[in-house]
Amino acid sequence: MTVLDERAPAPTSLPASPPSPHLIAAVVRGHRVAVECPPWCVVDHAREDLADLSDLAHYGARISLPVPQFSGGPEHVLIAYMAQWPFARDEHRGLPYVALEACDSGDVTEIRKTAGRAFIDQALAHIVAFASLVEQLPEDPS
Ligand SMILES: [Zn+2]
Repeated sequence: MTVLDERAPAPTSLPASPPSPHLIAAVVRGHRVAVECPPWCVVDHAREDLADLSDLAHYGARISLPVPQFSGGPEHVLIAYMAQWPFARDEHRGLPYVALEACDSGDVTEIRKTAGRAFIDQALAHIVAFASLVEQLPEDPS
């Protein structure tokens, strides 16, 4: 028999469960095929008509760092997004990776977890060095 302690606060929400893939209908040469789509994917697969299932790609939302430019608006650098070609036979064996572009050049580096962590270490060291430069400046005039 379980005795409930009426003095204990009631849970306000259920514990968060990790997001899981959901089934979507991909279209391959006019035929609908059920495929798992990861929770980070933003592609509307129903709008595609693929020549081959190996052409199916999942992409996540893009992030970038806007850098002020002397002339014109900011340039976006360190553009990154999740990507996966689940049925491609390439070096990633269908596993997800982070696509990274230094600037919006279209030259994409495909980064897996170990390389991503190494890049994070480099980027954080760069930010610390940048902060050191900024702190050497005199305060802005008011
Ligand atoms: Zn997808």
